[in-house]
Amino acid sequence: MSYTWIMVDKQLQIDHVYADIIAKNICPDLAAQAMNLVIGDGNLDAEIVFIGEAPGKNEDEQGLPFVGAAGKFLNEMLAAAGMTREDVYITNIVKYRPPNNRDPLPDEKKAFWPYLLKQLQIIQPKVVITLGRHSMEYFLPGLKISQIHGQAKRVQFGDDKLVIIALYHPAAALYNGSLRQTLIDDFINVPKIIELMKNAA
Ligand code: URA
Repeated sequence: MSYTWIMVDKQLQIDHVYADIIAKNICPDLAAQAMNLVIGDGNLDAEIVFIGEAPGKNEDEQGLPFVGAAGKFLNEMLAAAGMTREDVYITNIVKYRPPNNRDPLPDEKKAFWPYLLKQLQIIQPKVVITLGRHSMEYFLPGLKISQIHGQAKRVQFGDDKLVIIALYHPAAALYNGSLRQTLIDDFINVPKIIELMKNAA
């Protein structure tokens, strides 16, 4: 009974974040040309939250993150690591599609950052996995993805401690043989890192 109530409560809180982004008119230029605000998708009690860059065309149309080619690859890697999308939560640092899939701008990432932090406060994951440099640079500023990909890093956020694992972005790795294998290897290693963390706790 109380479990169900916690689930509902978390969904209500995420709905509130969604409503707040609209009410505060965050990134009005992006909002004006987007079909949907893509807040995130998955299990609000997940141990792992994945954070990508921004919605693309398919994500904008469906209002869900990672449902295009990069999402298909992400699903395959989740399966290879023994997980499904129902086990994890997936979101992006920027919640509207940038025109023509251009990179999110620094101001856009900055504007959405507090809302991403609110989502993490609600979900309380054990591990945050950044996909690509746009979300990594906010959690691990100054570090290079080529040097730290796949490694667990402990970061303090106010009162909260988070473990961050930076991975390459599935879209970047999709058609690049060596990057693709590196990403798959890192991905498969994630459950082992979480198990080690649990044993060390
Ligand atoms: N790439 C991202 O970074 N996010 C998505 O939701 C889809 C593709």
